[in-house]
Amino acid sequence: ERVEFVSYYHQIIDRFEMQTPKGIHLQRELPNGSYYVWMDKDKMTQVLDNIITNAIKYSPEGGTIKLKTEYKRHQLLISIQDEGMGIAYDKLEKIFERFYRADKARTRKLGGTGLGLAIAKELVEAHHGQIWATSKEGKGTTVYFTLPLMNQKRRGA
Ligand code: ATP
Ligand code: MG
Repeated sequence: ERVEFVSYYHQIIDRFEMQTPKGIHLQRELPNGSYYVWMDKDKMTQVLDNIITNAIKYSPEGGTIKLKTEYKRHQLLISIQDEGMGIAYDKLEKIFERFYRADKARTRKLGGTGLGLAIAKELVEAHHGQIWATSKEGKGTTVYFTLPLMNQKRRGA
């Protein structure tokens, strides 16, 4: 279905804001215009839920999560940046594999199956996008993904 991404994303973030624990601050950097994407809303919601839930789960108390969307090369580039524990460089690619959980001892107590990002990758690719992450141990993690825009995009003010 044809979805205006910015207003859709605002709604997702609104929902998280009402339930975010640990005094975590969600900081939006979304464009003002309208950007139309062809997407399965339920599946994209699963992608964003997975990534944002991770960012919250691995954030320190009082941390800020930056939720950014920008227009780049005829695509939307969506990024979710946290100030959490980070992921070692040699483990970054593996986090998108099924059942992979970095640093078992540290993450065991936080719960989860290690499926979230594997599913997110599958669903982003089904939307003809790409997903990847960058991270600095002890400083934080940023997860990025792209979504192709539909032709008749209308960009406002
Ligand atoms: P599930 O999502 O199935 O509940 P999970 O969160 O452990 O479990 P994924 O979402 O697939 O699984 O993430 C895989 C692993 O990548 C996590 O166990 C964690 O080690 C690491 N990881 C993911 N996101 C972050 C993040 N924002 N900061 C630090 N580590 C992360
Ligand atoms: Mg997860």
